[in-house]
Amino acid sequence: MVIVMQASATPEQMRQVLHLVETSGFHAHINDGVERKVVAVLGEVDIDKVELVDRFENLPGVEKVNLISAPFKLSSRQYHPEDYIVRDGNLAIGGNRVCIAAGPCSVESPEQIMESAIAVRAAGASMLRGGAFKPRSSPHSFQGLGEPGLKMLAEAGEETGLPVITEVMDAHDLDLVCRYAQFLQIGARNMQNFTLLRAVGQCGYPVLLKRGPGCRIKDLLMAAEYVLCEGNSRVVLCERGITTFEDAARNTTDINAIPILKELSHLPVFLDPSHSTGEWRWVTPIARAGIAAGADGLIIEVHPNPQAARSDGRQSLKPERFAEMMRQVRAIAEAVGRTV
Ligand code: PEP
Ligand code: MN
Repeated sequence: MVIVMQASATPEQMRQVLHLVETSGFHAHINDGVERKVVAVLGEVDIDKVELVDRFENLPGVEKVNLISAPFKLSSRQYHPEDYIVRDGNLAIGGNRVCIAAGPCSVESPEQIMESAIAVRAAGASMLRGGAFKPRSSPHSFQGLGEPGLKMLAEAGEETGLPVITEVMDAHDLDLVCRYAQFLQIGARNMQNFTLLRAVGQCGYPVLLKRGPGCRIKDLLMAAEYVLCEGNSRVVLCERGITTFEDAARNTTDINAIPILKELSHLPVFLDPSHSTGEWRWVTPIARAGIAAGADGLIIEVHPNPQAARSDGRQSLKPERFAEMMRQVRAIAEAVGRTV
């Protein structure tokens, strides 16, 4: 349930509402909206919902009470009607400007990540990606360099002035990753690792939450809810392809998810066309489609020498191809009234 306060509601009226929320056995999350405050009432409802709605509606300062039947509340537009902009330093994700994060799948060496960082920055990226903890399907595949990789990534980020985003796979590594990164990534395989989601919620760092390949849009929003519940509002949702019967590409890009997520939620939405296609030749066309469909940003794998990459070389763009992708994406962004 969400309680929409009148624009003229006083602090005392707000206090009365919060008091009734707590004494009824719930807890409140407050969205200090631009026009009016909205209070989300969270907890299990075991008393009569209609009676509860009446009690809240009769309080002074309350405009209306909406029951949200969906199992996600804090990630829903009903709670936060305006688009939400995730900010960190100079970075703003979810506003008019489309944000591009780019870099290799894995950090492999200081030279490889530095060369990647310089190239993606020159082409106009505003974030550097690179994995140091890699969720690989086989335990025999390269697992990432761990802390030395994080150090290399942080150095390349500092040198180029790009904030860095990297995956955290385990709640135990969170403090370590936060020492080196500005932005966290929760990978597709961990989308429903609820312990990790809560830990990231408590740590407060901005997070890119990737959709699991077998998960529905509502599952992604419920996963985001775990982070938001802990008081961390800086969540970016990411479509990265789902598993379907179609096996011509690594995954199926669910372009529908972009406008659907934007409608259901106020959170910014990214597309990862590298993982959603699995093939570098299809990355640029699908990147264009994502921006045309309303994505707030892209995360792209770029490697100075894809043939030699230790992970995901096949779907990685060479720097010059990434620069060409940026040119095309810029044109699409302008066509839909945005900038890059
Ligand atoms: C990645 O970004 O390299 C990655 C492993 O992505 P995903 O979790 O979407 O598979
Ligand atoms: Mn990858």
